[in-house]
Amino acid sequence: MKSKFILKTIMMAFVFVIFSCDCNKKCDKTKEETKKEVVKDDVITQEEQQNMTPEQVVASLKEGNKNYVNDDLTERDHKDHITKTSKGQYPKAIVLACVDSRVPVEQLFDKGIGDIFVARVAGNFVNEDILGSMEYACKVAGSKLVVVLGHEYCGAVKSAVKGVKMGNITAMLSKIQPAIDNLKYDGEKSYKNKEYMHKVCESNVKNTIKEIRLKSPILKEMEDKGEIKVVGGIYDLDDGTVKFLE
Ligand SMILES: [Zn+2]
Repeated sequence: MKSKFILKTIMMAFVFVIFSCDCNKKCDKTKEETKKEVVKDDVITQEEQQNMTPEQVVASLKEGNKNYVNDDLTERDHKDHITKTSKGQYPKAIVLACVDSRVPVEQLFDKGIGDIFVARVAGNFVNEDILGSMEYACKVAGSKLVVVLGHEYCGAVKSAVKGVKMGNITAMLSKIQPAIDNLKYDGEKSYKNKEYMHKVCESNVKNTIKEIRLKSPILKEMEDKGEIKVVGGIYDLDDGTVKFLE
């Protein structure tokens, strides 16, 4: 009787040891897989940047925005990426966005350190300095895409429509004015009209793209040769999606 009990205890212990080993292996495997996923999204290299087409960069931004909307952002080893990018950067695009705090540019495209240049000014218009930044990004640093990213409920666009005058804001809003003047719209031209405000927002992005092509012969030439693309997009504050204007 006693020996049966001892035998049973030994067998149970044996089963337990085997099960534990298997679990440890599985746990280690899971850790390994997670580690691999983090490492998979490495910093962009010069070779990768040079081999990308502007169309592939657009696709990468669209894919990133899908991850953002689905709350499925890529895991990144930031410490490792900081170290690696300190030696150089090869961003695939430059994004011009508004300063609005609700438009987190890198996040909404699911991009990390060294992936994209970001220029920001209230109302996402261009001036000499921003054009210079874009030329640097594309001609010197090798980026393949210029994105002009407007957004819904833009305070700067709304203030321009309202004709706000205040300090340096007056001169700033004058850069958005052409988007209002050039827009053909038959309905009520008021900041209270949501449809009209959406049209002005789109018109502002299109006007900025026009200005880029007009005032930067460098970028215009690169675009004509197919080396870069200049595209526009609108960020929807309600659901986080970016609608590219094509
Ligand atoms: Zn804005």
